[in-house]
Amino acid sequence: MEKSQTPHIAILPSPGMGHLIPLAEFAKRLVHRHNFTVTFVVPCDGPPTKAQKSVLDALPTAIDHVFLPPVCFDDLPQGSKIETIISLTVARSLASLRDALSSLASRAKLVGLVVDLFGTDAFDVAKEFNLFNYIFFPSTAMLLSLVLYAPELHETVSCEYRDLSDPVTIPGCIPIPGSELLEPVQDRRDEAYTWFIHHAKRYRLADGIMVNSFTELERGALKALQEKEPGKPPVYPVGPLVKMEFSSVLDDQSSKCLKWLDEQPRSSVLYVSFGSGGTLSFDQINELALGLEMSKQRFLWVVRSPSDKAANATYFTAHSQNDPLKFLPQGFMDRTQGRGLVVPNWAPQAQILSHESTGGFLTHCGWNSSLESIVNGVPLVAWPLYAEQKMNAYLFTKDVRVALRPKPDEYGLVGREETAMVVQALMEGEEGKRLRSRMKDLKDAGATALSDDGASTRALSDVVTKLKTQISN
Ligand code: UDP
Repeated sequence: MEKSQTPHIAILPSPGMGHLIPLAEFAKRLVHRHNFTVTFVVPCDGPPTKAQKSVLDALPTAIDHVFLPPVCFDDLPQGSKIETIISLTVARSLASLRDALSSLASRAKLVGLVVDLFGTDAFDVAKEFNLFNYIFFPSTAMLLSLVLYAPELHETVSCEYRDLSDPVTIPGCIPIPGSELLEPVQDRRDEAYTWFIHHAKRYRLADGIMVNSFTELERGALKALQEKEPGKPPVYPVGPLVKMEFSSVLDDQSSKCLKWLDEQPRSSVLYVSFGSGGTLSFDQINELALGLEMSKQRFLWVVRSPSDKAANATYFTAHSQNDPLKFLPQGFMDRTQGRGLVVPNWAPQAQILSHESTGGFLTHCGWNSSLESIVNGVPLVAWPLYAEQKMNAYLFTKDVRVALRPKPDEYGLVGREETAMVVQALMEGEEGKRLRSRMKDLKDAGATALSDDGASTRALSDVVTKLKTQISN
C-alpha cells in the first residue's frame, strides 16, 4: 500500500493533565487548520488514568494515540519530586518511543516530533528518523525565558536562589524574588534541579519552541525570547490555546455543577479549584471553608482530601483516595446551602469558567487554568501551590494586574479573615472592578491573537511551513 503524503506529527506528552490538555488543543489546530494527522505517543508508569483517556478518546479521528509500555519505578528513591518522576518516565521510554516512531514512519509521512517542557530526551531518537524537533511549552513566556537563561544563571549564582538579596532579572521580565521562582530550582541539591538544568541546556537543540502565550499578555518576555542569538531556537507565541468545544454528554457531577450555575445571578459565583493535582493541608481546608463562609459570596468549590505531605498529592491521578467532603468543618454545608456548591475531586472547569454566572476564580495559577480564565475574562484570586505557580501568581499580581493574592501568616497558613477579605474585594470591591476590566481587555486581545489573521495563528503557520519542507525530503 502506498504511504499517505499527508504530513504526520508525533506528539509525546509528558505525564500530567496540564501537559496533555493544551497539547490536545494544539493537535486539533494542526488537524483542522493545516490538514495534518497526529499520533499521541504517551509514556506512562502504569495504566492510563480516567482523565487521560477522556481527553484522548474525545479527539477527532485524524488524531490517534498509543500508550507506550509502562516504565518501572521500583528503584525510585522515596520523596522523588514530580519533575524527576516526569523526566524519568520520558527517559525510560526512549526504546519504546523508537519502536513507535519506526512503526509510524512506515505507515505515514512523519515529519516532526513535538514534546512538552520535560520531553527533550526524546530529541535524539527523533533525529534518527530525520524528524524536526519542536517543543510545545505549556506555560508562560516568563518561565521559558528563565529556562533559556538558567544554564547561565546556574553558573553565576552559587547560593540557593531564595537566599539572594536582590531579585532575579529574567530577560524581558519584571525582577522577581528568588523565593518566587519555580519549585524545582528551590533546592539545588535535589535531583529535580539537575533535571531542570539538563532540559534547559537541551532546549537549544530544538528546531523551534512554541509557547502557549500571546503578546499582549507577556510583551517583554516574548520580545526578549524573539531576539535572535546564536544557538537559540526561534520562539513562536501560539496561545492562548485552551479547550473551547464541550461534549454534550456530561456525567452527573458535571451536570449538577452547570445546572446549579444556571440558577445563580450573573457574575456572582467564585469558582475555587486547585487544578488536577493541588491539595491543601487539613488546617488550610478548614480556614478556606470558613473564609468562604465569612465572605458571604456564592462559590463553587472542587474539594480534595487533605494532604500534609505535599501540595501536589493527586498530580498523577487527579482524584483523592478518601471522600473529600468529610474533611469540611462541621455544619459548613448546611450553613452555606444555596450559596455554595461543593463537589469532590473534579469539575467541568472550562465550562464553569465560560458560564455567565462565574465572576471570579480562586486558583492555584496552573497555566491552563489561568489561560481558561483569561479567555473568559474572569479575574483571579491567586493561591499558588507548587511547580511554577508562584511565578504565575507574581506575573498576575505585579505585572499584568488581574489577580489579588492573599497573604499567608508566619506558619504559611492563609487565615479565614484574609480569605474573606480578598474574596470580597475581588467579587464586590472597586479593585475587583479594575481587575475585571483588565481581564476583559486580555480576553479580547487573546481572541484577536487567535483570529484568522491574528499573531498566534500566523506564528503557528510559520511552524507548519517549516514542517512541510520535510515532505519533499
Ligand atoms: N481541570 C478540570 N477540572 C478540574 C481540575 C482541572 O477540568 O476539576 C482541568 C483544567 O480545566 C485545566 C487542567 O485540568 O485544563 C489543569 O491544568 P493546569 O495547568 O491549570 O494545572 P495542573 O493540573 O497542571 O496543576
